[in-house]
Amino acid sequence: YPVENIRNFSIIAHVDHGKSTLADRLLEITGTISKTARNKQVLDKLQVERERGITVKAQSASLFYSHEGVNYLLNLIDTPGHVDFSYEVSRSLSACQGVVLVVDANEGIQAQTVANFYLAFEAQLAIIPVINKIDLKHADPERVEKQIEKVFDIPTDECVRISAKQGTNVEKVLQKIIEKIPPPQCNTADPLKALVFDSTFDHYRGVIANIALFGGEIQKGHKIVSAHTKKRYEVNEVGILTPNEQPTLKLYAGQVGYVIAGMKEVTEAQVGDTLFLYKQPVEPLPGFKSAKPMVFAGMYPVDQTEYNNLKSALEKLTLNDSSVTIHRDSSLALGAGWRLGFLGLLHMEVFNQRLEQEYNMSVILTAPTVPYKAILSSAKLIKEHGKAEITIINPAQFPDKISVSEYLEPTVLGTIVTPQEYIGKIIVLCQDRRAVQKDILYIDEHRVMLKYLFPLNEIVLDFYDALKSLSSGYASFDYEDAGYQAADLIKMDILLNGNPVEELATITHSDKAYATGKLLCERLKDAIPRQLFEIAIQAAIGKRIIARETLKAYRKNVVAKCYGGDITRRMKLLKRQAEGKKLMRKIGNVEVPRDAFIRVLKRE
Ligand code: GDP
Ligand code: MG
Repeated sequence: YPVENIRNFSIIAHVDHGKSTLADRLLEITGTISKTARNKQVLDKLQVERERGITVKAQSASLFYSHEGVNYLLNLIDTPGHVDFSYEVSRSLSACQGVVLVVDANEGIQAQTVANFYLAFEAQLAIIPVINKIDLKHADPERVEKQIEKVFDIPTDECVRISAKQGTNVEKVLQKIIEKIPPPQCNTADPLKALVFDSTFDHYRGVIANIALFGGEIQKGHKIVSAHTKKRYEVNEVGILTPNEQPTLKLYAGQVGYVIAGMKEVTEAQVGDTLFLYKQPVEPLPGFKSAKPMVFAGMYPVDQTEYNNLKSALEKLTLNDSSVTIHRDSSLALGAGWRLGFLGLLHMEVFNQRLEQEYNMSVILTAPTVPYKAILSSAKLIKEHGKAEITIINPAQFPDKISVSEYLEPTVLGTIVTPQEYIGKIIVLCQDRRAVQKDILYIDEHRVMLKYLFPLNEIVLDFYDALKSLSSGYASFDYEDAGYQAADLIKMDILLNGNPVEELATITHSDKAYATGKLLCERLKDAIPRQLFEIAIQAAIGKRIIARETLKAYRKNVVAKCYGGDITRRMKLLKRQAEGKKLMRKIGNVEVPRDAFIRVLKRE
């Protein structure tokens, strides 16, 4: 395949607008997978993706397509839509020259449509707008075309109307890809220059690096060097993804594929690295901006003897998800562990679920916190840190007010797209979250796009759920980093019978302390089962108690009375209780279910 017959593209869209379904049809039409009724989101390979019905990992597939007598090689990358995984999208785009922007014919432009459009636009990629789900009864492609014209300045006649589900007009999308997306600009005669844009760890074969070739060629036996580590490797296997790994003799400039080269350590195949031939060094590609974590949480093994296993699982999983940052951390109550940075709460949950499902690890997670900052005024502390401005990613390290001249909190610029009838309620919600309105734009007669500057901690936990519920699911939300602002912050502890619950220590805005404290106590009361004694649940700022709930003791004879007669039933119950205990954490004398903390933090 000469370079001019290659097209590299991503499919981008808001969640649920049909990216993965369109990818299925493209795989079928090109004969990459056989047509069966069961092809559903075949590129969503992870268990967590199948269970949640969302894409969290970008996936590549090479398609072969013949058009007007010419054979084309198309490399498709299906991407996630949710804001928490936008790092996957931006990385994928670096291996592409164009995108297919999918918009639902019924829902129209949504917040993540806008965000993903700008990622492609800023990367100067060719953009093919596609209006999907025209088979739906309430589809209104004309209206959506007008929105696309208004918001993105793309003429209405450039849109392709399709039904990914039924296959209508999908062939037209392929033709547009060939016409509109330029082939990659590179040369096989140049020295090898390969960008590692993703990698996974295979238990048997070591690191499998997904690469995009910007120059030269690569084949088995080649000696290659990593620009990042300067280490040398011998290539064992190269190939393309169809979408499973299929070995080929060579990969050429312009192609997207994978390489296995005996990298055994997960640290050896950094995403963003450039590979070149031994003794033929090239200028490394710019790589990727590192992801900027939005929330941090502590992670600890349930049992300290599992520490090393968890460490190795974390290393392998973060290779596949390079947007997670890791620092070692420890706590009196929880032992040795880590502080992890995530792009959002969904990201944190998905990462945790992948640890459980793919590595069989279960962990204790602490309350997520956003990265606050403090400008220190105490000479002693400044000397200790070697600087005056520090970032606080752990509430345990929150410096006292007397040694601080100013606290700062991170902010984001949020985009909300909503039918106009919900504007009133949404404005009230945003004000309640200390947000400041920045812009308002009618994208058609009925839909509005609002821009607000939010303190990040006000949206991280449950803003999206609140927005969804007050708009009956119709409003969508996305955000981007917008720097820091001064804030009046305090640290709040949660106590059980006087003992602090380390998992729930939080930093909060002082205006919100009472409300937050009260809420956490109430929710914790619901999440902890009654025990043999009364439990005081308190929120405290320093020594001052600001909220309290009391969990009454249960009467212990109930179980004995009901099941006393039936010995097997009784044994079964005791066994189940013993298993349940493993999932408990003891704070003082109080037993707390391990998942209680997450439930408390996530309003249900
Ligand atoms: P993604 O989140 O963008 O990858 O979206 P999916 O491909 O997972 O699709 C989301 C939902 O929309 C699934 O239930 C699909 O079956 C459905 N869907 C996708 N394309 C169409 C279409 O053309 N018509 C209809 N009626 N439903 C579709
Ligand atoms: Mg998907």
